[in-house]
Amino acid sequence: FDDGPNPFSTPDLLDVLAEHEVTATFCIIGAYAAEYPDLIRRIVAEGHGLVNHTMTHPDFSECTPDEIDRQIGGANEVI
Ligand SMILES: [Zn+2]
Repeated sequence: FDDGPNPFSTPDLLDVLAEHEVTATFCIIGAYAAEYPDLIRRIVAEGHGLVNHTMTHPDFSECTPDEIDRQIGGANEVI
């Protein structure tokens, strides 16, 4: 699931996944993870995978190498 966590949709999504005993991979935006750490904890506690989807989801084709490093490294730290 792309571009989360989202305080409105992620809890409902997690409820549905649990109801069907399905795990998923969540592509996490670091800025959102910093804002909603309890959702990140819940995703992990319920057995789902997390992947780094950068801090703010920029278009990498328009970023410098340093910006790309900050985007990925920052999200790693937050996650
Ligand atoms: Zn995305």
